[in-house]
Amino acid sequence: MANDLAVKRIGVLTSGGDAPGMNAAIRAVVKTAACLRIECIGIRHGYTGLLNGHFLPMDEKSVKGIIGRGGTMLYTARSEEFATDEGVERAADVCRRNNIEGLVVIGGDGSFRGARNLHSKGVKVIGIPCTIDNDIACTTYSVGYDTACNTVVEAVDKLNDTMQSHERCSVVEVMGRHAGHLALNVGIATGATVIMIPERNYDFENDVIERIRRARLSGRTNFNVIVAEGIDMPVHEISSRIREATGIETRHTQLGHVQRGGGPQVRDRVVASGMGYMAVRLLAEGESGRIVAMNGDILVHLDIDEALDMTKDLNNEAYNMFKALAFLDKEAFCGAGD
Ligand code: ATP
Repeated sequence: MANDLAVKRIGVLTSGGDAPGMNAAIRAVVKTAACLRIECIGIRHGYTGLLNGHFLPMDEKSVKGIIGRGGTMLYTARSEEFATDEGVERAADVCRRNNIEGLVVIGGDGSFRGARNLHSKGVKVIGIPCTIDNDIACTTYSVGYDTACNTVVEAVDKLNDTMQSHERCSVVEVMGRHAGHLALNVGIATGATVIMIPERNYDFENDVIERIRRARLSGRTNFNVIVAEGIDMPVHEISSRIREATGIETRHTQLGHVQRGGGPQVRDRVVASGMGYMAVRLLAEGESGRIVAMNGDILVHLDIDEALDMTKDLNNEAYNMFKALAFLDKEAFCGAGD
């Protein structure tokens, strides 16, 4: 491959919300480029930095020690200007004038829409899915998700200790934007009494209050309700409605941005490394307009248009399993649940 590379100089940027493992992806991009003798430019502050020339020449020394670090050493941002026709035209011009022939974009769906526009202007682009929400349709796994799940589980376990001591009900809001993947996974992992996710409709009396009452009748003395941020009822309201209806003392917690931080867990380091490696190899082979993705345990890549047209459903099997374990719900066990 080294003799006939399609690119000699590439850029890498992180865009949108940060996620643990972004640094591991940057490291893999920079080191793979170094291995292939491709010049690599770090672009700080996402597309804003691309438009404004926030460039940082990078080599293997620039990424020393970052594989286990949370956040992104290149900073991240959201850019309204880049999302306009003039903005993307100007960004493509910046790439041309700086001989940036290819770009690795580490981010979410929005960042990939921007990357697709750049690709249409002749800049070679490859996307790497990174978000703690795991809501990117084209990939079964997004970098950052496992670490965020572990962060939330650790916090909920601690809350459960104190709920147990005081015989209370904890109501915890977790991130996920419009998706409930994080809430479902964490709910399963912490033995939640109830999970509330935007992909399912709730009858508050039947699906929340009644579940808690039944759990209490079966001998439970403390309760754990996991609420996805995409639910349209504020967590404090859910908490007070539970208290009013059941008489159980409740405490609500919004975990907030702590969920985005922390050093990446093994899975995120490994997946991010594989994705960064594949992204640069694709650019070197002359590919463009591709998203690197996981299909189960296998690393693949697919067309960016196809990727952005895909939709992702909640894992219904996992949801039914949760209901079977949490409520001993026979219908869910038989796969007849919603
Ligand atoms: P996260 O999942 O963390 O929100 P994201 O990549 O989806 O990450 P966005 O804020 O949606 O984050 O997008 C990041 C940037 O990508 C935006 O600030 C904008 O510059 C660009 N972008 C987003 N949507 C589009 C679009 N439809 N067309 C062109 N560019 C876009």
